Amino acid sequence: MSFMRKTKILCTLGPATESPEVISALIAKGADIIRLNMSHASHEWVRAVNARVREAAAASRREIAVLMDLTGPSIRTGDVEQPWQLEVGDTVELRCSPEATASTRYSVSVNYPDLGKDIKEGDTIMVDGGMIQIKTTEASPQHVIGTVMTRGEMKSRRHINLPGVPVRLPPLTQKDYADLDLGVELGVDYFALSFAREPGHVQHLQLLLEQKRSKARVIAKIENQQAINNLDALVEVSGGIMIARGDLGSECPIEDLPLIQRQIVERCSYHGRKVIVATQMLESMIENPVPTRAEVTDIFNAVIEQVDCVMLSGETSVGRYPDKCVEVLDAVIRRIEQKYPSGRFASDAPLKTNKHKTVKAAITLANSIQGAKLLVFTLRGVMAHLLAHQRPEHAPIFAFTPNLHVSRTLVTARGVHPFVLKFTEGQPEASIRDALDHLRRENLINAGDPLVILSDALYDGVNVDAILLRQA
Ligand code: PEP
Repeated sequence: MSFMRKTKILCTLGPATESPEVISALIAKGADIIRLNMSHASHEWVRAVNARVREAAAASRREIAVLMDLTGPSIRTGDVEQPWQLEVGDTVELRCSPEATASTRYSVSVNYPDLGKDIKEGDTIMVDGGMIQIKTTEASPQHVIGTVMTRGEMKSRRHINLPGVPVRLPPLTQKDYADLDLGVELGVDYFALSFAREPGHVQHLQLLLEQKRSKARVIAKIENQQAINNLDALVEVSGGIMIARGDLGSECPIEDLPLIQRQIVERCSYHGRKVIVATQMLESMIENPVPTRAEVTDIFNAVIEQVDCVMLSGETSVGRYPDKCVEVLDAVIRRIEQKYPSGRFASDAPLKTNKHKTVKAAITLANSIQGAKLLVFTLRGVMAHLLAHQRPEHAPIFAFTPNLHVSRTLVTARGVHPFVLKFTEGQPEASIRDALDHLRRENLINAGDPLVILSDALYDGVNVDAILLRQA
């Protein structure tokens, strides 16, 4: 049995990875979760690739989760006739209302009518992830005027960040509502909510999902200072958090980014929520077959922080070496996890309920027995998620559930290997035997392995949380 990787790998699909062959290669190399980024995807494309992912997953006999990333309310410029070659000191106008007419040579509309109300003189406008920086000199409800601080080329429909400026954008746009319906129809396992700034934004999406009878979980993408100001509340209401380092790096001082990453990981660990580190993990591999030394060290950092997942974006959506990226990520993560056990970050998480305490007891037992493996039988996934959140040191977590959706949501949990298994009603021993048969067939346990078995689902009609210790 080879070492079982704990940190999960999330891959964004795109033109480089849309074919059935490449999707299968990503899964074979270790992709656990597939991200459909709605900022760059048509509904037709999403339907086609989602079907390919499900087929490839079935063929690989592994659970693969699908995450639909909703674009959210990003601020963008309108069209420019020709790309602008901006020089330091140039004046740029952003028009907020359709009635406003151009008052300077470089004038473009924006899709956010309240921009001139939210921003004030002196605020910085970051265009294209900060490639062009503009200092605001005048703001009115009609327009914003600014001076270019860094030269660069500006094309149509550029993304704008406003560091430190609280904005009044709605949680979702018309496009997001249409995308959401598609995601529900396709049965995606997770929705990522871009630019979540308040707990109400997450709750709004959760309510919509409930009304549409979707069981998908919501991952809040933390992208700006407003979200960081509301971090604890956002973490508490969400199924998980994505540290969207791309936008965060524009919205916050860049030197704060590693501190923000650490802060988010700690709060997720405290509240027992999933955490995904996203963006530029292997950016140089979009063009090159090998990573930079700094990228390998960035992966090291995320693994040492014991995050649940690391994410590839451009590396797999448009990069030249998509499956090689997964191979590198897989190899680096394995190397680090074999050297450094889990545990530390979760050790101060409060044990709020008796279930938390039972899980802790099972983990303490597994940590104290060399070579132990954790098995959990779970109907709704609660016990299995709790086990993952409390980060057993070495033991892998084999989670059995009769529910396919539960099994797929468990794919994102650090150290959890989920399987769908029909429980034998009222006969816990039969369910345990079936699970062990499955693990033996998959070569995941050896005779004599110490097994710590945790369950709240095996004793039909009786509310029993049980920890069993036995040998394979
Ligand atoms: C990010 O900003 O880091 C991110 C993941 O979001 P997106 O790719 O949607 O811009």
